[in-house]
Amino acid sequence: MTRLALLATGGTIATRATAEGRAVAASARDLLGTVTGADTGVEVVPIDAAGRLSFAATLDDLAALARTVREACAEHDGVVVTHGTDTLEETAALLALTHDGATPVTLTGAQRPFDDPAPDGPGNLGAALRWAAHGRPGVTVTFAGRVLPAIGVRKVHTAALAAFAAPDRGPLASVDGAGVREHAVAPDAVLGDPPTTLPRVDVVAQYVGADAHALDAAMAAGARGVVVAAFGAGNATPAVVDSARRLLERGVPVVVASRTGAGAVEGLYAGGGADLARAGALFAGDLSPWQARLLLAVALASAPDDPVGAARAWAARTGVA
Ligand code: ASP
Repeated sequence: MTRLALLATGGTIATRATAEGRAVAASARDLLGTVTGADTGVEVVPIDAAGRLSFAATLDDLAALARTVREACAEHDGVVVTHGTDTLEETAALLALTHDGATPVTLTGAQRPFDDPAPDGPGNLGAALRWAAHGRPGVTVTFAGRVLPAIGVRKVHTAALAAFAAPDRGPLASVDGAGVREHAVAPDAVLGDPPTTLPRVDVVAQYVGADAHALDAAMAAGARGVVVAAFGAGNATPAVVDSARRLLERGVPVVVASRTGAGAVEGLYAGGGADLARAGALFAGDLSPWQARLLLAVALASAPDDPVGAARAWAARTGVA
């Protein structure tokens, strides 16, 4: 018998309409009750791990969930996490960065609420359970019939049922009533243990004429590092390049990711990305700024003496950069 844990954390998949707007109202057991045609030989243990909308989660909530997943992995053959779609890609990154071992962990959710007349949650959860029972190690996202790697996944549509993609990487597998078809295997992405707390890392957006005030504010608020959500292939305004250079000289890690939505960053242009690269910024490959932020936070927590070195080695090992 294969034993799976279903960790429910909230999100649209568990919401019903209320006078104030959608609110979480369905438990792990309720969610499990919507899945039809469960595979024989699979036992699912429903566990209510949290009951929130994911846009309201804190870094401490994410760290606690990573520890809960680690515990669930020790006692089950696979773990399915139901989660709000808004920040699912960030939780997926943290779980992948802190998941050691062979237990499959997959996250899923829904674009339509629990009380929708044609909900997508039951199909997504059924596919996630089937994928977890299939036994492929690693952390993934199962959504709209596709299994995507946790590292590189992004929410790419606000409303469509196929809400997630891993641009330039593609799906690892397809899952439907007929079973599982595997296409690829993602590299092991562990970097450290589930943390008790994560250090503050801020993301600074680039837009035409952006000055350095957001970088300054991040430092004043106690950030231990920053991610620049850069233009295009990794460029920033002259003011932000100057400010980032000064931070790097002081030993503050600066990571460059792109605001574009797909593709890797490189230090190409004089005065922009090339200057950031020369100053020692870490270019985060095709990671979204939000996943790059968690990479730096986990690196700071797990390798405080050389977080940038640890993140660079991780990026090389996983093929990210
Ligand atoms: N829109 C979100 C969802 O799809 C709400 C959340 O992230 O919790 O679940």
